[in-house]
Amino acid sequence: MNINLEALLKKHFHYDTFRSGQKEVVQTILSGQHALAMLPTGTGKSLCYQIPGYIFDGLVVIVSPLLSLMQDQVEQMKARGEKRVVALNSFLTPHQKKNVLSNLQSYKYVFISPEMLRMPIVYEKLQSINISLFVIDEAHCISQWGFDFRPDYLKLGEIRAKLGNPITLALTATATKEVREDIIRSLNLQSCNEIIYSVDRPAISMSFEHTETFQDKSNRIQELIQDLEGPGIIYFSSKKVAEQTASMLRSHGNSRVMAYHGGLEQEDRILIQQQFLYGQLDVICATSAFGMGINKENVRYVIHFHMPMQLESYLQEIGRAGRDGNKSLAILLYSTGDEQLAYQLAEKELPDPFQIDRLIEWLAPDFDLSVHESKKEEIMHYCGLTDTQWRVASKLMEDLSCSTADEYKKKIKTFIEQRLELKKTKIRKMLHLVQLTSCKREYVLNYFAESALKPPEDCCSSCGINTDSFLKKNSQPEKSNVNNFDWKKELKQILLN
Ligand code: ADP
Repeated sequence: MNINLEALLKKHFHYDTFRSGQKEVVQTILSGQHALAMLPTGTGKSLCYQIPGYIFDGLVVIVSPLLSLMQDQVEQMKARGEKRVVALNSFLTPHQKKNVLSNLQSYKYVFISPEMLRMPIVYEKLQSINISLFVIDEAHCISQWGFDFRPDYLKLGEIRAKLGNPITLALTATATKEVREDIIRSLNLQSCNEIIYSVDRPAISMSFEHTETFQDKSNRIQELIQDLEGPGIIYFSSKKVAEQTASMLRSHGNSRVMAYHGGLEQEDRILIQQQFLYGQLDVICATSAFGMGINKENVRYVIHFHMPMQLESYLQEIGRAGRDGNKSLAILLYSTGDEQLAYQLAEKELPDPFQIDRLIEWLAPDFDLSVHESKKEEIMHYCGLTDTQWRVASKLMEDLSCSTADEYKKKIKTFIEQRLELKKTKIRKMLHLVQLTSCKREYVLNYFAESALKPPEDCCSSCGINTDSFLKKNSQPEKSNVNNFDWKKELKQILLN
């Protein structure tokens, strides 16, 4: 196909040149080959499927793991003038969903959640339509060994087959070699072109500080917020500490600070995200629920109050800084023993042997979870399972076929032991990074099987960072790029569109 891709880029996006990897991905797709693209956060992965949409006749289906991420993409495309785009997710009323489904051919880009895609009424409709590109955003969620595993993503290979194995593009920002292999296997991509770019973000300086106590850490956060040029994100492993820190900062005069976590109502989450995006908030105290796909260019710092559970999360989270390519700072605050919280969280995510015994006893003698689906709450209560533990346990029950209760118990326990060991290994590697006295960047790059090049200026706290360039230049808060915006009203509009 002889197409002037630069002309298309200019016409639809007003950019003159492609960023690293974009053209290669587009060309791979246009040549009819599948692609797995690992491009660093902020490169512009969405352009890789939007351009082919202007060339192919059929529909571009984009599977996306987060509702907020989907809404955000749809909004951006609409703002750019592309009206043939829609998000199929639980935000839609049954009536709206029906409408979208019966007019599917009038769209060019359909964003869809994996849960929605599993519904027969949805994929049967898609089967009757020409799909020219099937995109999996945040594709690392497919891998059970990935840090962000979503069981719903596991079914995508099956669904892809049901849709006639369309040309597929898997997109991710961080995936080890093992995870990339898993993605290709799980989607059953025959002859896939892997387009892999360095995970390194040389403009982000990586700093690690030791603080003695929890109180010292809080004090340090306060200092940093005063001194550093914002906007910024502070990551926590605990919703409660995120909330407490946000109110502590507000009570010290930083009014433009909010907490963001999975415990908030969906509407509040979108509201806070939008306020941050449009410069009405300076700091977000967040859990890992915040950030996937957040397209804010000028985040100047990311602070970790708690140690992330793996290098992949660390890299993803610090990668939310400096998307504009300007210098930014990542600071991790560590107090001796912080890793214990990470170990506890890893254990809490998985059912323990006692819970497994109770679950199997409940399900005996047929062990068919689907029969008991309506009793989910009752079973969870009886076994003391959290939502996350339930997801793991029910997924295992779905996948395994054993003949006796003992066999089930044994297999599930072995799987869980292995998974816990993997999580612990990842925590140990993260801790190693924190405590390492040699170059931090080199260690991170080696983890992703990359070799480090010459370290950039202000590389990391081991190499030395001159913090002057990260300090506030003036005391004015970031100017909001919207005046007197009523987000409550705007939000309604976004959800209705
Ligand atoms: P990613 O998903 O890789 O994190 P996005 O697709 O959200 O990144 O894009 C990040 C930003 O980069 C967006 O504002 C987008 O418009 C911009 N962008 C993408 N491609 C280009 C390009 N070729 N030239 C300039 N800016 C670009």
